[in-house]
Amino acid sequence: MPGKSGNVSCRTPGGFLVTPSGLPYAEMEPGDLVEVAPDGAVLGGKRRPSSEWRLHAAVYAARPEAAAVVHTHSPMATALSCAREGIPPFHYMIALAGGNDVRCAPYATFGTEALAANCVSALDGRRAALLANHGVVAFGATLAAARALAEEVENLARQCLALRAAGLAPVLLTAAEMEEVAAGFADYIKPA
Ligand code: 13P
Ligand code: ZN
Repeated sequence: MPGKSGNVSCRTPGGFLVTPSGLPYAEMEPGDLVEVAPDGAVLGGKRRPSSEWRLHAAVYAARPEAAAVVHTHSPMATALSCAREGIPPFHYMIALAGGNDVRCAPYATFGTEALAANCVSALDGRRAALLANHGVVAFGATLAAARALAEEVENLARQCLALRAAGLAPVLLTAAEMEEVAAGFADYIKPA
């Protein structure tokens, strides 16, 4: 993702460990991470926590299975989010996010409680969502799974936009076809 956009966190016994606000990843050291309590109190670290700590806290509160949260402004998914459109089931890999589509949460200002609430609603039954005019949120049972899902959402968005740019209309998979994919995934990969 470009520059210093986005943020990453991992659940801890007392809350979560999150990337600091506004520090480019290339310059980030382990000691720059900040531990934050669910109410935003800083438990450890010398930096200011990510401005999106409310979003991370809300995902951990709403989804006990979430052990890590990745938020990106990855280019293609963000482009789609600026049209305020989610990703339909045009490709079976959509099932990796846990449902039959990736929703786009309504717009709210970055860092706000409203954005956190919109994001949690869009994640209902899913492990990933787009944020309107902003980017992507993905979570997982591990940091690797959350990161892999954020990368797959970007990949799907790229394919979706390529299809549209070519002037082609996607043929969407049916609910029954997506159910079969979900059943196949249950064997193939352990859902995050
Ligand atoms: P932070 O640098 O404060 O984490 O903000 C980046 C971002 O993506 C805000 O939505
Ligand atoms: Zn952001």
